[in-house]
Amino acid sequence: MSNYIVLDLEWNQAARKEDEIRDMIFEILQIGAVKLNDSFETVDTFDSYVRPRVYRIMNPMTQKLLHMDMKALKRERPFPYVMSDFLDWCGKDPVFCTWGTNDLAQLQSNMDYYGMKPLSQGPLPYIDVQKLFSIGCEDGKSRRSLEYAVGFLEMEPDETFHRALGDAVYTARIFSAITGNEKDSFDHAKYPANELLKFVSYDTYRLPRNKEEEIRVKFPTYSKYISRPFKTKHAAMRDMDVVMVNCSICGARAKRVVKWFSPSGGKYYLAVSRCKLHGYLKAKNRMKKCRDERVYVVKTVKPIGTEEVDQIRARYENAMLSQRR
Ligand SMILES: [Zn+2]
Repeated sequence: MSNYIVLDLEWNQAARKEDEIRDMIFEILQIGAVKLNDSFETVDTFDSYVRPRVYRIMNPMTQKLLHMDMKALKRERPFPYVMSDFLDWCGKDPVFCTWGTNDLAQLQSNMDYYGMKPLSQGPLPYIDVQKLFSIGCEDGKSRRSLEYAVGFLEMEPDETFHRALGDAVYTARIFSAITGNEKDSFDHAKYPANELLKFVSYDTYRLPRNKEEEIRVKFPTYSKYISRPFKTKHAAMRDMDVVMVNCSICGARAKRVVKWFSPSGGKYYLAVSRCKLHGYLKAKNRMKKCRDERVYVVKTVKPIGTEEVDQIRARYENAMLSQRR
């Protein structure tokens, strides 16, 4: 049995760009969290402020959002103390859930800054409730604000937004509602609620260090692969694991129909392959920057129809033409 830890952080950043510290661009000022059991019932809450050590002046943008005062924060405990209390509170093998993709990277960078033991060696699996909301209620691509989702699901806006615990409470309610586990569960679902939990995300603050640690996951509608780092994107695109396409449904190796090409100056690459059993597959390799100069690849593979094959083929021919020019 594992606990879901629905987490929200508030942070500050340098008031002037020249004061920014590269290893900790965002300094956490507040940790708020809701602990849910397997039945998505709230078991406990965590709420703590943090004494700032690095950025002692509030960034004007942050000040507008947060209900916090630097003077009062000076009475709080420093990050390592609050964080180790928080980890004790989380218990064994917590499953972190957040609204969006930022919080876990900031949490890990603050932990690193203070030399704390890492949360994981490689990519950290977590649940991005913002993504589940999009898959369950919208097109799977939109990224909505917490305020929007609360309104959409017609929830009582009785907590303050942009306060760590308030936002965590809202995120937990949305999570519970869209996965069909709340008594007055909503009826906007586009996607079967029990299937939503299969869409696990991976935080890539720590990347796979080698081939063995690379991530390969199959979701109900597509598959995903996260590579180890490469020196350049060209080196990445020469690697067998990066360019090979397996069917997202049966896993069989698929035959190339349209070669890998980049329609976007190297930000991502596309290819079309074909599985004997399941037809055409679109493969997309996104090139992502590591914190050093290297790159890693996130590959997604999903089934497509013949119309989309033709569209991609046309884009391929266009890209070849413009290369020749
Ligand atoms: Zn197949």
